[in-house]
Amino acid sequence: MEWIDSHCHLDGYLNQGVLPEVMSRAQAAGIHQMIAIGTDLKDWEVNYNLATEQPNHIAYTVGLHPCYVTEDWVKAVDQLEAYFSRPNHPVALGEIGLDYFHLPKDSEEAIAIKSYQQSAFEVQLQIAKQQNCPIVIHSRNAFEDTLSTIDASGVDWGKVVVHCFSYSAEQIKLLNRRGGRASFTGIITYKNAPNVQKALIEQGIDSLMIETDCPYLTPEPHRGKKNEPAYVADIGLKCAKLFGIEPEILAERLAENTRRFFGLKRPN
Ligand SMILES: [Zn+2]
Repeated sequence: MEWIDSHCHLDGYLNQGVLPEVMSRAQAAGIHQMIAIGTDLKDWEVNYNLATEQPNHIAYTVGLHPCYVTEDWVKAVDQLEAYFSRPNHPVALGEIGLDYFHLPKDSEEAIAIKSYQQSAFEVQLQIAKQQNCPIVIHSRNAFEDTLSTIDASGVDWGKVVVHCFSYSAEQIKLLNRRGGRASFTGIITYKNAPNVQKALIEQGIDSLMIETDCPYLTPEPHRGKKNEPAYVADIGLKCAKLFGIEPEILAERLAENTRRFFGLKRPN
């Protein structure tokens, strides 16, 4: 059975010197492909190098994550477009979006950061529109502003995935109605997240993708350990249970959805 981890962060394992072990545990668990997602200048080049060294297994994205947006955001965003002219180009722009959960406590500072996030998001959506590439969205406590910003940008909603979906079934309807989709993390394995499970069921399988978002959000039954791509299999098994279908069939459909959305080739 083959699963794809559609959203992971590998720079931490590389820095700790444990990436080879993490990759071989992924292989052993049937995860032959994964997408290393960009968050800031600190990982774009790392992801590019990993994807270039292991093209069969790793694809990459670049984008400025809202939690890394500062008043200097333009300096980073200015460097995005050049990646799309490289022969081994990113498979998407992201993760980009809005995060009102991690704002500074000081309200004046929070207002400033919110406005930088908004501008960085708008400018990056225009870059994605120009590149006509898929877009990976990070959105926390900011659902309405996320939707209205994407609406106003004029990007093709069919190219949009809201990753680590943590909103409700009612909200996913608003996303799906526009042609956008959500991907789901280990949160769907948690007992305290029935709303996210309902959103998963509401969206259905046709556009579904799954992800670890490692090193965060370790799924059951591995909680307490550091998350890694191998565990996307546990997320897939839980999805199969929730949908009431055979894991083999679900795995094949999710791999196909993910390859089609990001334009990935099958590994050799
Ligand atoms: Zn992420």
